[in-house]
Amino acid sequence: MSALFTNGKYNLDDSLRQAFQQKNIPVFEEKIHKLWHSDGQLQAIELESGQTVARSGIFFNPKTQQSSLIPKKLGVPMDQLGQYKTKEDGKTNIDGLYIAGDCRNHLHQIIHAASDGAKAAVSINMELLKEAWDEVGL
Ligand SMILES: Cc1cc2nc3c(=O)[nH]c(=O)nc-3n(C[C@H](O)[C@H](O)[C@H](O)COP(=O)(O)OP(=O)(O)OC[C@H]3O[C@@H](n4cnc5c(N)ncnc54)[C@H](O)[C@@H]3O)c2cc1C
Repeated sequence: MSALFTNGKYNLDDSLRQAFQQKNIPVFEEKIHKLWHSDGQLQAIELESGQTVARSGIFFNPKTQQSSLIPKKLGVPMDQLGQYKTKEDGKTNIDGLYIAGDCRNHLHQIIHAASDGAKAAVSINMELLKEAWDEVGL
């Protein structure tokens, strides 16, 4: 059965707490003290009070940060989660600068990063073709 551990970080409102209750999902709002494992396999989660809750797996939302601040220094805006703001194809507000992957996409998965890269490549190609076409001046 699922359980929610907030690690003491969120103030769940009553309606959310009730929703979990209705689904019989226990909510633990204390800070987590320790994860117990055997050979890397999770066994239990120990809370600060000493209570341990048996668990064999965990999904968590890791905190992320940008590896490169070069786009920021160039003037690309970021959203409130620290992701670069671009158009759907990765085009930024800086001419010729496209961004693809985790640094602009909230869906941190390889398939999304690859799709982002492909979309940016198509748009860059179109932009270069248009430039070349315009240069010919026909
Ligand atoms: C622990 C973990 C497990 C994951 N498991 C999965 C999974 O099971 N399935 C899945 O789909 N996704 C998974 N992901 C997410 C997936 O790895 C990312 O979504 C994907 O790698 C993003 O690709 P990217 O090209 O945007 O960024 P990255 O793969 O992070 O590539 C960015 C590259 O840029 C380089 N770089 C950064 N700054 C600079 C700089 N200033 N100059 C030069 N190079 C620089 C970095 O070294 C890196 O090589 C996982 C991620 C982590 C951390």
